[in-house]
Amino acid sequence: MEIFKTLPTSAENIILTKRKNSKGLTLSARGDGKLCVSMPVRLSYRDAEAFLRKNADRVNRYLDRVEEIKFRHKNLPKRDMPCSERDGIELITARLAQIARETGTTYNKIRVRELKTKWGSYSSSGNVSLNIKISRLPEELMDYVITHELVHTRVRGHGEGFWREMVRVMPEATALNRKLKAYSPEFL
Ligand SMILES: [Zn+2]
Repeated sequence: MEIFKTLPTSAENIILTKRKNSKGLTLSARGDGKLCVSMPVRLSYRDAEAFLRKNADRVNRYLDRVEEIKFRHKNLPKRDMPCSERDGIELITARLAQIARETGTTYNKIRVRELKTKWGSYSSSGNVSLNIKISRLPEELMDYVITHELVHTRVRGHGEGFWREMVRVMPEATALNRKLKAYSPEFL
């Protein structure tokens, strides 16, 4: 599309969509890493171009970040990559059982499956859900996600109490949390 020629970003990562009930131009990130510009039907693509140019910093920052994450994912060590879904589930389940034993944590049920945007979650009924994709992360980050969800069995939310408990059972938790931000389940 011609309109992107003036943009310092790669056009194939931007998708323009005209929507009937859209009130103005909005930028939103999609699960596949593309940036979606939603616009009302009455506006022209030229308006979208102006909008993107005005928001070029934001657009570029987002696209750069996605590229970085994708690059990092591509370079994950192969040995950490289980070859089948069953291997992944087995690896995560075994690790969870071990960490639960070591930290004296009890949980109700564990479910390992593919999640779109989260590494894991904990429900009020005591069930731990883990994203199968953590089996491809560096081991310390997989452990971090598992420990994080297990700590939720004791402390809800992410307040001071949570982090105190987190650091007690995993002293390097804060640094690992920061490291995990370099990856994204959406693009793995
Ligand atoms: Zn949490």
